[in-house]
Amino acid sequence: MKCTRCGGHAEVKLRRHNANFCRDCFVPHVHRQVERSISKHRMIARDERVLVGVSGGKDSLALWDILIELGYKTTGLHLSLGIGSYSDASTEKTVAFAKARDLPLVTVSLREEGLAVDDATAFTNRPACSACGTLKRHYFDKLAYERGFPVVATGHNLDDEAARLLGNVLHWHMDYLSRQHPVLHSTHEKFVRKVKPMYRCSEYESAAYCFFRGIDYIIEECPNSVGATQLNHKHILNQLEATSPGSKLAFVQEFIDKAQPRLRDVESSPPRTCEGCGMPSYAELCSRCRLLREVASKRERRDAGRVSP
Ligand code: AMP
Ligand code: ZN
Repeated sequence: MKCTRCGGHAEVKLRRHNANFCRDCFVPHVHRQVERSISKHRMIARDERVLVGVSGGKDSLALWDILIELGYKTTGLHLSLGIGSYSDASTEKTVAFAKARDLPLVTVSLREEGLAVDDATAFTNRPACSACGTLKRHYFDKLAYERGFPVVATGHNLDDEAARLLGNVLHWHMDYLSRQHPVLHSTHEKFVRKVKPMYRCSEYESAAYCFFRGIDYIIEECPNSVGATQLNHKHILNQLEATSPGSKLAFVQEFIDKAQPRLRDVESSPPRTCEGCGMPSYAELCSRCRLLREVASKRERRDAGRVSP
């Protein structure tokens, strides 16, 4: 297999691009893809400071590396979520990456902040991924706002976005579809812009990128995601991709270009202020404060049950 660019020995085959790459040509190819997504959707201005959500997984570590290589001013944000030993391992990978490259990293422990994901799932009937998503969104906004970052970048890749789109379309979740875009602009001074510069890169591409760049990431999947519907959707989309290369990208990109602009009027009214924490909210209390309150009351009931005969 020959590299389509230089004719050297190719190690990566991208059927969607009808191209093969050697490692020296693949790395700049990924950089160009990401740079193109950033400029097409005006995700990040050159002089802006970007807070990069880094989980310790391949996508977000690749993203951080790529943004640095492209010359953006980045700071990593790692949330230690409190999902058993999985969280400890992901914190270790993130800290090691930042330390080896002398990069600024903010690490926040959700347990120390008052509510870890494990407790949220133990004390409520909510699916773990929903509680985890609520907490992540809250801290991305809060920490970016408090530290003066205008934009948060996450490592969501093509497979994530295609699976999410399929899930949303299967149920015609119009409100979710109206917000599924690689750039979410700020609708409140405490809601910073959210961007997904990796949305055109597949999981395979980000894994290959990490391998060639010598990036050590956590391979283990989050224990809460085992059996998750999203994994099933990814599996179905991979089957489609195998028989029809380029399907995933077409599904996502055509949605963004053609359908998504027509859904923007579905968007709800602008947020108000949460009475619990002062962050923006669509109800009296934001979803994180509602979660906190639910856990506190169930914990109280459990403790009272233990004391009373
Ligand atoms: P996930 O929601 O786990 O699919 O992750 C999507 C993206 O959210 C990742 O690529 C990261 O950019 C970000 N992210 C996930 N987990 C964390 C975490 N523990 N700390 C910081 N960012 C995270
Ligand atoms: Zn709140």
